Amino acid sequence: MDLNYSNEDLAFRIEVRAFLDAELPADLQQKVRKHLRLSKEDSVRWHKILAAKGWVAPGWPVEFGGPGWTATQRHIFEEECARAGTPQIMPFGVNMVAPVIMAFGSQAQKDYYLPRILSCEDWWCQGYSEPGAGSDLASLKTTAVRHADADGDYYLVNGQKTWTTLAQHADMIFCLVRTDTGVRKQEGISFLLIDMHSPGITVRPIIMLDEDHEVNEVFFDNVRVPASNLVGQENRGWTYAKYLLGHERTGIAAVGRSKRELAFVKTLAARENKSGLPLIEDPLFAAKLASLEIELMALEMTVLRVLARPNQAPGPEASVLKVRGTEIQQALSELMVEAVGPMALPFDPAYLEGEREHSLVGDDEAAPLLAHYFNYRKTSIYGGSNEIQRNIISQMILGL
Ligand SMILES: Cc1cc2nc3c(=O)[nH]c(=O)nc-3n(C[C@H](O)[C@H](O)[C@H](O)COP(=O)(O)OP(=O)(O)OC[C@H]3O[C@@H](n4cnc5c(N)ncnc54)[C@H](O)[C@@H]3O)c2cc1C
Repeated sequence: MDLNYSNEDLAFRIEVRAFLDAELPADLQQKVRKHLRLSKEDSVRWHKILAAKGWVAPGWPVEFGGPGWTATQRHIFEEECARAGTPQIMPFGVNMVAPVIMAFGSQAQKDYYLPRILSCEDWWCQGYSEPGAGSDLASLKTTAVRHADADGDYYLVNGQKTWTTLAQHADMIFCLVRTDTGVRKQEGISFLLIDMHSPGITVRPIIMLDEDHEVNEVFFDNVRVPASNLVGQENRGWTYAKYLLGHERTGIAAVGRSKRELAFVKTLAARENKSGLPLIEDPLFAAKLASLEIELMALEMTVLRVLARPNQAPGPEASVLKVRGTEIQQALSELMVEAVGPMALPFDPAYLEGEREHSLVGDDEAAPLLAHYFNYRKTSIYGGSNEIQRNIISQMILGL
């Protein structure tokens, strides 16, 4: 693999940079760079700007509306977006359910859902976890029982999902459901696409300690789902679920964003003083920063190696990216707080939500950093906890 950029790649980087300079709204850029919270409208606005350019789904094949970029171009695009401070494209539609629909869905599902994912017509959420099924996901109990009447075949869905990210905005949920209880637990699971506006669905917020509404419980009470919303074959959902998780974990590595955050830590450390010297000259702090930068460079090489393999879905190596990517993100969030010290302490939800231009107390850049630090504790849990990823690495890569 040649890690030097070609002339075409360098030209592509200039093209992306020019596009971002012209099209990224300044208010969105400020929110991202200042670690403020983004609303649904913020996410949808940016999604539609990218969709209009044909750049919203870099990993999709051209036949479905992808831009046809090489792995290197996708990496450059991600890096430039992160550097500029764009909002993240919500992964649930573009990066998670879409690859499953492309690989295992019916032609009708591809024709209907994929264009709507590209245009952000539907906001998707992920219905995997349940109160008794997190790490042990195959223990899930939400049932889907098949029936037929004059209107056609359908499933009746009953049960509960939990930790469902941003379900309060969702039009659609992709759900793992139990369709057979008499077999090994992995063999009785199916993958259903469910309209969140269906009668019988209740979304209950789980409000975090920082008053943020990021996750929810979702209840299903006799929810009728057309049988045509089954993806692939009944009772084969575990295979599709694992395929999706490979895509989810590769995305979680977020190298570009970590590079921007690393640059931000350096700016903070150059500005803050410790014992009369800039913090960045403090040997202990400088050593932590340097070792993190090396870890990040190594992760970047690994991501490029995974992306460079043509037409191959991410396998267990996605777990390596998930573990290392989230460890680096968490370490960066710690260094930011360490750099600004007590200036990170103000808790000002109105400022975090972008409702007030300046923080009530202290430095605008420093005020959101503790909320960011606490929020980022989630990264080693979601997408499958890091302990479980280590089990996958030891069994499937190291053969232990
Ligand atoms: C912010 C956030 C957003 C989320 N969003 C979604 C979403 O949108 N959709 C969705 O479906 N899910 C979502 N999740 C759920 C997430 O995937 C689960 O929390 C995760 O899989 C862990 O499951 P659990 O919370 O039930 O923990 P448990 O499985 O109860 O685990 C508790 C602890 O025990 C450890 N552990 C368990 N089993 C083992 C083992 N065999 N070996 C070693 N250690 C073990 C775990 O690593 C963990 O540290 C989200 C979670 C968070 C925190």
